[in-house]
Amino acid sequence: MSELNTRARRYTEDAPEYGRLLRESRGVARIVAPNPGPMTYHGTNTWLVETDEGCVVIDPGPDDPAHQRAVLAGAGGQVRAIVVTHGHADHERGAPALARLADAPILGGSHGPALVDQSTVCGLRVIATPGHTMDHICLDIGENRLIAGDHIMGWSSSVVMRAPHGSMDAYLTSLKTIHEKHYALVLSGHGPPITEPHPFIEGLIRARQRRLAQIHAMLGPDWQSEATLLERIYKNLAAPLRPAATEVLGATLEALQTRGQAVRNADGAWRKA
Ligand SMILES: [Zn+2]
Repeated sequence: MSELNTRARRYTEDAPEYGRLLRESRGVARIVAPNPGPMTYHGTNTWLVETDEGCVVIDPGPDDPAHQRAVLAGAGGQVRAIVVTHGHADHERGAPALARLADAPILGGSHGPALVDQSTVCGLRVIATPGHTMDHICLDIGENRLIAGDHIMGWSSSVVMRAPHGSMDAYLTSLKTIHEKHYALVLSGHGPPITEPHPFIEGLIRARQRRLAQIHAMLGPDWQSEATLLERIYKNLAAPLRPAATEVLGATLEALQTRGQAVRNADGAWRKA
């Protein structure tokens, strides 16, 4: 999507070998799940973090038995807890099966109890980061490192869902929350580690603000449908990307509405306020 064009730097990688344990930082490894796609890049990163209380698995990924076996083996056969950053299938559908296989509790997402901001799981600190979805959390894993789920990704901009599932204003606030913490390493739900997160997150905030201004400038005195606006922004958008682009456009328009800069009529069309 064209948000990518406004980005200073991207973090991409060749397709990793599925099922293989990739050590990315001290006590932190990932195994990439075999669910590549236009929304998931090479697949979901399942993170394994060693803590004083044992191995915590973050985002077990899709329901794939081979992936679950690889994760359990990567954890040395013992999983202390399974944490889900948010209730999207590519992050959590495999959680119940891994929980049974490893006899471990699930926390967060739609299968486990909600994770409260600033609470801890085996010493890892939960940071509420609503925006992509309203239930989204990140995990501060110590030594200035963050597990970021779909909140911050290097390969592509996050799809911010429209209300009630997500919120562009909440997303921007959550980006600023993370930006202020000056992390040295950000580990995402898809794609490689982000090794210079501070300027990268700054770029994400600026890109969203530019996009808000750009879409505001496209509104006029006449009503325009979201389909029309979508066509004007993303000319010849590939069909698989259309639902995500519609969500982001809706979330952006809703943020303009909150600012008193846009109005929506009963048909769901928009004009300048
Ligand atoms: Zn997601």
